[in-house]
Amino acid sequence: MKLQKYYALILIGIFPFLSCGGDDGASDDQADPAIQFTSTPSLQSDHNRTFSYTFSAQSNEGLPLSYEVNIPSFMSYNEDTRTISGVPDWPRLNSDITFSITASDGTNSVTQRKSVQIVLGEILCNSDFGEPSESLYILPFESGESFELSQSNCPSNPNWGHHNWFALDFDMPIGTPLLASRAGTVIAVRENQRDGTRVCGEENYVFILHDDGSVASYVHLTQAGAEVNVDQRVEQGDLIGYSGDSGCSIGPHLHLAIFRQRGPYDRQYTLPINFSNATGPLNNANGLVQDGVYTAN
Ligand SMILES: [Zn+2]
Repeated sequence: MKLQKYYALILIGIFPFLSCGGDDGASDDQADPAIQFTSTPSLQSDHNRTFSYTFSAQSNEGLPLSYEVNIPSFMSYNEDTRTISGVPDWPRLNSDITFSITASDGTNSVTQRKSVQIVLGEILCNSDFGEPSESLYILPFESGESFELSQSNCPSNPNWGHHNWFALDFDMPIGTPLLASRAGTVIAVRENQRDGTRVCGEENYVFILHDDGSVASYVHLTQAGAEVNVDQRVEQGDLIGYSGDSGCSIGPHLHLAIFRQRGPYDRQYTLPINFSNATGPLNNANGLVQDGVYTAN
C-alpha cells in the first residue's frame, strides 16, 4: 500500500515538469523572423520519378527576396519557377539527400535545410508513353516487316517476365535482322551462347548507350549473331545483329528494354517507349499492347 502511494507521488511530480517543457517550445515559435519560408518540401522521393520541390518565401516587410540554392549534382534549379528538380541517381538509393535554400532581402537571410530520402519504388506502369510521332525510337526490325508482340509492358500477372517492367517481346524467327532503335554507342555484346538452352543467364545480347545516358538492351540474339562490337558507334536503323532464342526464353523472340542509365540494369529502372514508325494497336496511354502485330514503316 505504502509503495503504491509513493509511485503516485512521483507521477504527479513529473507531470508539471513535462508540461513546462512544452510551454518553453511554444515561446520560441513566437519569434518573428524577417523572412519566412511558406512551403514545406516533400521528404521522400522515388528513384523512378523526378523529385520536384517548388519553394516560396516572404519578407515580413514586403522586401523583394533573392535566393541561393545548394543542391546535389543530380538536381537542377529553375530560377523562374523556383523549382528544384531532378531524377535521383542509383548510388544514392535509400540514403538522405540534403539540400538548402537561402532567401535574402539584402540585410537579413534565412536558410531552409531539408533532407529527401530516395527509396526503391515500383515503376509507374500507368505512365503515358507519349506521342508516337515524337518518339526517339523506331521498331528494331526492317521496314515492311511485321511481328507480333507476345509480351508487352507490365503484364498484371506477377508470374509473367515483364511484371512491373517496361519491356517488349517481339516474336520473330531466329536470324531476323535487328536494327538499332536509336543511335548510340555499343557498350556490351555477347554472342557465344547457344539457342534453345532455356537457361536464364545464357542470353546473347547487344547493349547500346544513347547520348542522353539511357541504354537499350536487345536480348536473346542467336549464337554468333552480333554484327557490332563494343565501342562502335551505330546510327538509328543500322544492322546490329540477328534475333535468336538464347537464354531465358520459351521461343524465338527479341526482348527490347530501355533503361534510364548505364547501370545497374534493374527492371525498375526501365523506361516507357513507343516507336515513331510503327503501325499497330496502341492503348489509351499510347503504349503497345499484348498480342498486337506491329509493322515497321
Ligand atoms: Zn522479354
